[in-house]
Amino acid sequence: MFNIEYFIKALKLSWVQRILKSNGACKAIFESIIGCNINSIFKFGKEFLNKKANVIKNIFWKEVLSDLYIFLNCVDEDDNIYQHLWYNNNIKVDSKPIYFKRWADRDIFYVYDLLDENGSLIQSYDIFCAKHNFYPPITQFDGLHNAIRATWYAIQNRHHTFSLPHCPIHIYYILTNKQRGPSVYNLFIKNLKTNNKYITKWSEELNLVEGTVWWKKINIIPFKSTIDCKLRWFQYRIIHRIISTNKYLHMINLKDSPLCTFCNRHTETIVHIFWECRLVAIFWEDFKVWLYDDTLTNLQLHVTDVILGKLHKDQEVKYLNTLVLIAKFHIYKQKIKNCLLCINGFIKELDLYLKTEEVIYKNNMECDSFVKKWSI
Ligand SMILES: [Zn+2]
Repeated sequence: MFNIEYFIKALKLSWVQRILKSNGACKAIFESIIGCNINSIFKFGKEFLNKKANVIKNIFWKEVLSDLYIFLNCVDEDDNIYQHLWYNNNIKVDSKPIYFKRWADRDIFYVYDLLDENGSLIQSYDIFCAKHNFYPPITQFDGLHNAIRATWYAIQNRHHTFSLPHCPIHIYYILTNKQRGPSVYNLFIKNLKTNNKYITKWSEELNLVEGTVWWKKINIIPFKSTIDCKLRWFQYRIIHRIISTNKYLHMINLKDSPLCTFCNRHTETIVHIFWECRLVAIFWEDFKVWLYDDTLTNLQLHVTDVILGKLHKDQEVKYLNTLVLIAKFHIYKQKIKNCLLCINGFIKELDLYLKTEEVIYKNNMECDSFVKKWSI
């Protein structure tokens, strides 16, 4: 499902790309707004962006920096030696990210600046001072070392190989957006924590033991079965259990009774309204008879096939999923209208659907695909 919020965030980050690639006035304006050199946005860790976003008054650039902060949480460096030393939540002294200005003035910004020529973490204060010709307070040196070791203990026991100059990973993705590798939008989306509660609930209710790949395919079925956005959205709401039933409407005080619209005997849940209800069961029997009379297809329907869709590579299943989806939509519309179910009503709706779909395929010069889909 397309995420407009993160699409806008990705668009805003394209401004960072423009500024980084520009040489003149654009860069100067940005620097005057954020109050520091543009290099700061990739030489400092994400807490720096957060801090800047909180103090900037210009709303547009405030949002750009906030989005850059979120984006930094979405991407990780391959090796911790490329991590920022300053304003980095992974390197804390007294529970706070640190910034030693004198160190930054000496161009010390990354963990790899604390490695010797063999790629090992410099353990001795004297060797560090000799390498950088710089003599900070020894307490700062010890504090920084302890903070790094506290987060990445193994870093001190390894010889690291690294190549310089190194472009921070978030800046690399912004600069190469849509040219190389995953786009900024896709990286945002990849990091989104999906709410999988619906999987747990369906697994319990339908006795399923399927894995993530199976559920991904189930989510794709409505997109493969129909080009009708209304039907796709309808099936999405069923899969994600966000379609309203009397049980839910009663719970939020919008209906007096949680009982089924058709039988008025049992609580109207998603499974009940589309499968368990005795009147709906009669409708599915009529559906199977109609299908057999029309196509000689002997359809075996199970509750999971009806509610979530049927997974199979055959072309046959593709149109059967479409038919079941249209039939479910008919059931739901009759429920909303408070009308009885009737197979003839479904056949009329199917006829209208086929005529509409045929026109769309024709307009898109895809007549063959339409014939292939429905050549039963
Ligand atoms: Zn019922």
